Amino acid sequence: MSFENIGIIGAGQMGNGIAQVIAGHHIKVVMVDVNEAALERGMQTITKSCDRFIKKEKMTEEGKKKVLSFISTSTQMQAIKDCDLVIEAATENIDLKLKIFKQLDEVCSKSAVLCTNTSSISITKIASVTQRPESVAGMHFMNPVPLMKLVEGIRGLQTSDETFKRVKQFSESLGKTFVESVKDMPGFVVNRILMPMINEAVYTLHEGIASVEDIDAAMKLGTNQPMGPLTLADFIGLDTCLSIMNVLFEGLGDSKYRPCPLLVKYVEAGWYGRKSGQGFYNYEK
Ligand code: NAD
Repeated sequence: MSFENIGIIGAGQMGNGIAQVIAGHHIKVVMVDVNEAALERGMQTITKSCDRFIKKEKMTEEGKKKVLSFISTSTQMQAIKDCDLVIEAATENIDLKLKIFKQLDEVCSKSAVLCTNTSSISITKIASVTQRPESVAGMHFMNPVPLMKLVEGIRGLQTSDETFKRVKQFSESLGKTFVESVKDMPGFVVNRILMPMINEAVYTLHEGIASVEDIDAAMKLGTNQPMGPLTLADFIGLDTCLSIMNVLFEGLGDSKYRPCPLLVKYVEAGWYGRKSGQGFYNYEK
């Protein structure tokens, strides 16, 4: 049984990317954000992304119109009441996610499946605030969603086989490769490995071992990564990176996950990376 009517909570980098991919498969999707401007920015990002596909001759103008016609937006949670699948992609903050899942549980029909795109937070904890923990799962898309192949699937302790199977099938129907993180542990697979590397790159900068550009060049050319770790951190969002490191640090209780003080400083300054115009690099131009 596939899903036919999808709700997305949060229209930021991830939310709008997920909406674009789903609409690209001609499935109805409604994006909900508390911030009207974020919804507008989200729609602009989708439009620009479609334009890039057109330029590369991977989409037609007609195709773009069709994608956009499958997406609606709202600032009201009620807009998702008829959805059979909701994917939450709001800010990486546990209290916020718990509040959202309580609301989703009240607004959505009992048969709806509720997923979170969290990068690191316990699915079991998120599911615990609902009356349907068996219908809650982690569905972790990668950034940028239209280009990245992976969906990391995470079972909470109470996620049912039926729910997980449906989420897997749906991810695959979107053309994604679904990899299961068997245990619901902080950071799952991708961020358990990726985020300490990024944090270490920030320490390398903090300790004056090399410049931003040289750290990125060394890792790009020396380990064959498509972009350096500081460029990637700016791309992910430094606020998101810090939140993930805090979840790893608190959840695993090991000092090796201590967020670098320089990362903390940048976030305190509002330097979130690309999305704020300043991170390790400047994007204002
Ligand atoms: P973002 O900052 O770009 O967007 C977050 C959006 O959530 C904002 O538009 C904000 O207005 C909205 N929001 C906040 N509170 C809300 C609420 N109560 N209801 C509805 N919307 C609300 O963040 P992002 O990078 O899109 O990350 C979103 C989620 O995806 C996080 O859990 C993050 O960890 C995860 N994620 C991020 C990446 C990445 O590379 N950035 C990759 C995979 C997963």
